[in-house]
Amino acid sequence: MISFFESFFEIQKKTHQYLFSWLPFSLGDILYVALGIFILYTFIKLFKKKDRNKTIIKFLLIINIIYFCYQIFWGMLYFQTPILQKLSSQDEPDINKAKNLALKYLEKCKASRKMVHEDKNGVFTISDLQIIQTEILLRQETIPQYISSKKVSLVNSFKPSLFKNIMSFTGILGYYNPFTAEAQYNPQLPATLIPFTAAHESSHQLGFAREQEANFIGYLIGVQSTNAELRYSTEYFTLKSLLRFIIEEDPGFVKSVQKNYSEGMKRDRAFEKSFIMNHQSWLDDFFGFTNNLFLKSNQQEGAVTYSYFIDLLLNYEK
Ligand SMILES: [Zn+2]
Repeated sequence: MISFFESFFEIQKKTHQYLFSWLPFSLGDILYVALGIFILYTFIKLFKKKDRNKTIIKFLLIINIIYFCYQIFWGMLYFQTPILQKLSSQDEPDINKAKNLALKYLEKCKASRKMVHEDKNGVFTISDLQIIQTEILLRQETIPQYISSKKVSLVNSFKPSLFKNIMSFTGILGYYNPFTAEAQYNPQLPATLIPFTAAHESSHQLGFAREQEANFIGYLIGVQSTNAELRYSTEYFTLKSLLRFIIEEDPGFVKSVQKNYSEGMKRDRAFEKSFIMNHQSWLDDFFGFTNNLFLKSNQQEGAVTYSYFIDLLLNYEK
């Protein structure tokens, strides 16, 4: 039954990418705006007694159609076999293993960081996003077959989000639109976050619905890339995820790793922090509460748990 939806997803994606990928803007975002206007319009019309019933029926009908499309385009993919079950071991995450891996990724980050470009403030900057996007699509073909047997599409359907300001203030890095098969990212993000976010969203395009699985597939895409920018962003995401897992048990270890960042990495970290602080403080002033969604993160789309990504990573990196 699930394999039917997996095949259906391939056809749907192919069709939608063929139709929409060439547009330089996100059609999906326009559709979301249209939906917002429609909901507002319905709400206003409810005040008129005369066609109230008609309005409600029309509204419910349209919402149902949208929900139905969402389920068959995307929702069913949440029922796929979890990747963890495809790995040869399914051990509980082990803190010492995580520490060893963190040290390994610290060295990897340091090495890759030397190979990337810097802006005038000495912060990592992306030289050509298009090249990174092409590399991500090509790298999808190298994901081990026992983990993904999905068909790879080389159609570039990455779109900068129209809602980039909202995203910066709410901590959303990117999202996949199941109605148009477009992968949106926030172009305002610090460069350290952009390549891996694109790899993560491309994993959704490939047909992995779960957030932490998209992180893991994104990791497989980026970690052995010959593109230093994509590799650095991926290694840095991996390192941060490991540290976030370790910090609850051993904050001292995390501090010592961060102390050992190269000077370039320290500047990148400071820049990420200032980006988050600048946007976060605005939100705090505006709403008067601390929404540390971003700080808890680099999570994608507001998912809260890291452990499943760590589970996958530690069992894969045996
Ligand atoms: Zn995601």
